[in-house]
Amino acid sequence: MNVDQAPYRALCTDCGISRTSDPKRCGEACQFIKPNYPYLETEVHGRPRDLNRPDELHFGPFIQMHRASLKNPSPGAQWTGITTRIGERLLETQAVDAILTMTQDPNDSWKPLPVLIDRASDMAKCRGMRMGYAPLLSLLEPAIAKGYKKIGVIGIPCQVYALRALEKQLGLEKLYVIGTPCSDNTTTENFHHFLSLISTEPEEINYLEFRADYHVEVRFKNGKKKEIPFLQLPLSTLPNDFFPVTCKTCVDYTNVLSDITVGYMGGQGEQWLIVRNQRGEELLNLLSEEVLLSTPGTAGKRHSAVVGFMKNVELAAGGLPLRKMPNWLRPIVGWLMPKVGPRGLEFARTRVEMKAIESVLHLRREHPAKMGSMVPNHIWNLVKPYGLSPNKEEINKLMPSQKSNPSN
Ligand SMILES: Cc1cc2nc3c(=O)[nH]c(=O)nc-3n(C[C@H](O)[C@H](O)[C@H](O)COP(=O)(O)OP(=O)(O)OC[C@H]3O[C@@H](n4cnc5c(N)ncnc54)[C@H](O)[C@@H]3O)c2cc1C
Ligand code: SF4
Ligand code: SF4
Repeated sequence: MNVDQAPYRALCTDCGISRTSDPKRCGEACQFIKPNYPYLETEVHGRPRDLNRPDELHFGPFIQMHRASLKNPSPGAQWTGITTRIGERLLETQAVDAILTMTQDPNDSWKPLPVLIDRASDMAKCRGMRMGYAPLLSLLEPAIAKGYKKIGVIGIPCQVYALRALEKQLGLEKLYVIGTPCSDNTTTENFHHFLSLISTEPEEINYLEFRADYHVEVRFKNGKKKEIPFLQLPLSTLPNDFFPVTCKTCVDYTNVLSDITVGYMGGQGEQWLIVRNQRGEELLNLLSEEVLLSTPGTAGKRHSAVVGFMKNVELAAGGLPLRKMPNWLRPIVGWLMPKVGPRGLEFARTRVEMKAIESVLHLRREHPAKMGSMVPNHIWNLVKPYGLSPNKEEINKLMPSQKSNPSN
């Protein structure tokens, strides 16, 4: 196994497959080569997303959706800790032999480090969000070598895509996949630079979240808390390549191939659960009375916000989409946005459409030849209301019955 071998592709988030005994499998596993979402959605959920069912175009196939929180939030968790609690429950009930997920690097608490957990009590050290990516799937072979047949994986969308593409080859008895949404990820090094711009004591920051109320919440080791409106973030000082091309062109925000997605975007201040199939239901049921569930709300209208975002992406010409707004207006708009902007599910739809637009515009600029293979057709449905449509070469011609074409 080549665990130390660096990945060799230009568009790569080092999900771990290139470090396994058969790195050539990247060709069939990679989200950035020739993904086939309709095929894998059908394999995993029994059907592809149904564009006639409310919200499946935006969020992928699902059978239940909830606002949610743990009655007793877990200390150190990013939100209330639903993700790691599901992992604990899987181990406590012996539904799995091990959980594959991330903990923090001992030398840098913001850096993710892949880890194989086989004791429920060890899940606590995985709580919280790290910025960056690390080769999660490089631990699949060691897990199988240890004799583990029932595995839970917690991962971000590009990791989950590769996992699902190779699932049948793994010979597992059971696989549960808990996914989180992911967007605007960057390298841990870049993230440290960002922290240094928002605080004079960046090394004291131990929590950061881009909340759905248009504020970034920052917490410090001494318990201090700071809330910064998105519009007041010092984005203009970040370099144009702050976000890697992978994360600017990624087409799966909501982790559509997981059994359950645990995020916050549609949760209006709480967590947001997308239960996608029967295994996802089993995972939610593991929490039984520990979790509070309610129906997600929705308010506001997204169209003008998305149009404004698209104009800024176009103006930024490959750099960061900065809002052209005088400084005096920023605090006022920053105050207004949580009150009148899209909220709840409408906020989640807004973000998914913004991300789809960003992916189309950036990929057209940076890798036009990849448009036809990397952009699934549902993305074109998402961007259509904003005047974007594919040319002949950009239409994805992969049939839902074809897995992918490794030679591409
Ligand atoms: C880079 C990134 C961007 C995200 N962006 C969004 C977003 O835009 N919208 C949204 O709704 N949600 C987003 N999320 C998910 C969100 O931050 C929470 O992790 C999620 O809601 C779960 O909260 P929790 O309290 O249940 O998690 P916890 O119980 O605290 O568990 C967090 C889990 O995430 C894993 N994890 C942490 N960092 C990483 C990483 N870098 N790579 C892989 N796994 C990791 C941990 O190992 C742990 O298993 C993002 C997550 C990441 C890592
Ligand atoms: S499959 Fe994973 S390791 Fe291979 S190129 Fe894609 S992201 Fe990189
Ligand atoms: S934004 Fe997309 S490509 Fe980047 S780390 Fe997240 S899931 Fe992977």
